[in-house]
Amino acid sequence: MEKLIITVAPTGSLPRKEQNPAVPITPQEIADCALRCEDAGAAILHIHVRDQDQNPSDDPKLFRQVVELLEGRTELILQISTGGRAGSTLESRRARLEVPCEMASLTTGSVNFPRSAYVNPPELVEGLALKMKEQGIKPEMEIFDVSMIQNALRLRDQGLAQDPLHFDFVMGLPGAQPATIDQLVHLCHYLPPDATWTVAGVAASQLVMGTHAILMGGHVRVGLEDNIYYRKGELATNEMLVQRIVRLAGELGRQVATPAEARRILSLPPR
Ligand code: MG
Repeated sequence: MEKLIITVAPTGSLPRKEQNPAVPITPQEIADCALRCEDAGAAILHIHVRDQDQNPSDDPKLFRQVVELLEGRTELILQISTGGRAGSTLESRRARLEVPCEMASLTTGSVNFPRSAYVNPPELVEGLALKMKEQGIKPEMEIFDVSMIQNALRLRDQGLAQDPLHFDFVMGLPGAQPATIDQLVHLCHYLPPDATWTVAGVAASQLVMGTHAILMGGHVRVGLEDNIYYRKGELATNEMLVQRIVRLAGELGRQVATPAEARRILSLPPR
C-alpha cells in the first residue's frame, strides 16, 4: 500500500473561536498552526481564510499572506480552497488561484444543505478547472455525492483536468452523502484505476471514515474545518487530530507520507 497522505484543514468557513478557541483565523495563526501540523505528520494544508470578524473571506490578499508566511519554512503542499461560502461568483473564486499553490479544491456539482443551496453550475466548475489548468494547479475534486465523480470525469474528458485525478470524499454533511463504509466502497468503484482519494468525514465520522481510509489504501483529511471535537465533549486542536491519525496509521501498519512522498503519490512535480 502507498504511504498515507494526511491533509489538514485547520480553518474552514464555519467554526469560530467561540466554539473552539484553537481554530486559526488570522493568516499568522493559520501559518503557525500549519507548521505544527507538518511537524505532527501532515503533508497537505487545505487553506481557507477569514476576515477580522471571523467570517469566510474570498480576499486573495489574505490567501497570499498565508502562503507568504509559509514560504521557505515548510515542505507542505499548499491547497487553496475554491469553496463558495466565502463568495459565490466565478470571479471571486478564481481570483485566489493567482496565489502560488500546487493544488486547489474543486467541487464538481451542487448540493442542498439544510438551510442553503451550495450551487456550482457547470460553467463555474469549468471556469475554475480551466484556471487551474492554466496555472498548473492540480485540482482536488470535492465529492459530496457520487454524481460529482461523473462530473469530474467529464472535466477530464473535456481536457480541463488530467489523469491521474485526485478526489476528496466529503462524507456525513447533512444534505449530502452519508458517512458509511458502504458509501465509501461505492464511491471507490467509480474512480479511474490510477486515481488517488482522500476522505473528509464530518464531525464524529472524521475518525471513523479516516480509519476506513487507512485500511482501504486511501488518504485522510482531518482538521477543525470538518470536526471541532476530539471526542464527545472534548474540543480538539488541529495537531491533536493529525497526531491521532499518525498513531492509528502506525497501529494499522501504514506509513505516513512526507510532503515530498505525497508529491510523488499525487504525481505533482517535485519541488
Ligand atoms: Mg474546504
